[in-house]
Amino acid sequence: MKIGIMGGTFDPIHIGHLLLGEFAYEDFGLDEIWFMPNGNPPHKDTTVHKDKADDEKALRQRVEMVRRAICGVPHFKLCLHEASAVKHSYTYQTMRELNIEYPEDSFYFILGADSLFAIEQWRYFKEIFPTCTILAAMRDDKDVKDMEQQIAYLSEKYGARIELLRAPLLEISSTTIRERAAKNLSIHYMVPDPVVEYIGQNQLYRE
Ligand code: ATP
Ligand code: MG
Repeated sequence: MKIGIMGGTFDPIHIGHLLLGEFAYEDFGLDEIWFMPNGNPPHKDTTVHKDKADDEKALRQRVEMVRRAICGVPHFKLCLHEASAVKHSYTYQTMRELNIEYPEDSFYFILGADSLFAIEQWRYFKEIFPTCTILAAMRDDKDVKDMEQQIAYLSEKYGARIELLRAPLLEISSTTIRERAAKNLSIHYMVPDPVVEYIGQNQLYRE
């Protein structure tokens, strides 16, 4: 099988993430897309709750929102490999483990431009490249030319396998959604309906 890995904090998951998964699935003939919420990302705070001690609960809620967002889509799966609130997960480690666990399958790691341009700051990032093909999508201020340059640079320098993933450009981020929810502004159509409902019911991101 060809498996796409869509990793993220998903705080909350939004249609930008889902479209990346869908276009990767279609354009690269993948069999499944695994949405993989990270538990305790080394590089950022999780913010479902202002109270940082509540990481466990926040993780459960981020996972639940992913579950609801992909519910009923047979080629979208939830992957809990990094869903630990106590342990830091590093992508190179996760990808190595997935390759060992699923030796018959090949992996495609899906990310947005901001991640592609930051990847050299990730822990042991060079170790990621042999484990997967990277599918990189444009985002916000990065255009095709920027992307192609960065892809060529990383490919030449590290032997990385990276393809440009063409998906509709959406100026949507989880940050925007959290800010809008905090001000009680509409987040409809930016996140799937069951997630809007969940955020409302649980009063997430409220000031
Ligand atoms: P935050 O604002 O909290 O950082 P985010 O919207 O960037 O949230 P993440 O969970 O950080 O979402 O992102 C997971 C992956 O999805 C990253 O590789 C990111 O580049 C990508 N991504 C998120 N939103 C978009 C978007 N609108 N277009 C393209 N890629 C995106
Ligand atoms: Mg982000």
